[in-house]
Amino acid sequence: MSLVTREPEAPINTPQQESIPFVTEAIAQEKKEQKAILELQENRFARKSKLLFNALGMLLRHKDEIMENPSYANIDVHYILENASDYTNVRTSCEFNFCGAPVSINLRLATLLKIWNNELFKAECDCGSTAVLYKFKDSTTSGESVASAFCPCCKKKFEVTKKTPPSYYAHAINNFFMDDMTAVVKNFLAKWRLARKVFQEKIKNGQNGRKLQTTDRLYGDRDLCSLETMIQELQLKEFEEASIRT
Ligand SMILES: [Zn+2]
Repeated sequence: MSLVTREPEAPINTPQQESIPFVTEAIAQEKKEQKAILELQENRFARKSKLLFNALGMLLRHKDEIMENPSYANIDVHYILENASDYTNVRTSCEFNFCGAPVSINLRLATLLKIWNNELFKAECDCGSTAVLYKFKDSTTSGESVASAFCPCCKKKFEVTKKTPPSYYAHAINNFFMDDMTAVVKNFLAKWRLARKVFQEKIKNGQNGRKLQTTDRLYGDRDLCSLETMIQELQLKEFEEASIRT
């Protein structure tokens, strides 16, 4: 007689009986988690937006440095420019399913500074400084818009009526963003061509092709920098420069 005991066999369910309650629960959980992530992202973007506006005076003082440094220039700031009307479609973020790989392209800090350097996105503040426009909605008068403005000098937020429809602002922003998207694609293609060239040269020089792949030579850009780190670095720089002067 065998000493091995067997567990009583579990009742055999059909595939439908086994999977439906489980998947339904998983789908509900996925929706719940996605909602929580979205709420967290919204709060994060609101915090970053406040931080950027608060530091805008300093960012404008270091504009050239930001434009020349890819780690600063490429910081994602897509959450700054907003639609305030259902009729405008400001596009500052785009997600692709690129041959099965998710790719997202967002408005860069360098592009935002270029937009704010355009006369269309400027307004005069009571303090005498120039404010920047960041939100656009329809005015009660046809063909005009009410834009939200922020003054980097006195840090005041105010609204200004412009003789330009909101769609005009959306169109201008979207054109700047399209330039960004084009630059990303061109940059990627240039990197691929360079990687391919390096790979082919290595093969020509007798290296083992089986151990090499073009993708091994496909290098990315420098590490991305966060908005928070950039502001800290610029603050430190200004502090050091002030210390030297005194
Ligand atoms: Zn002001």
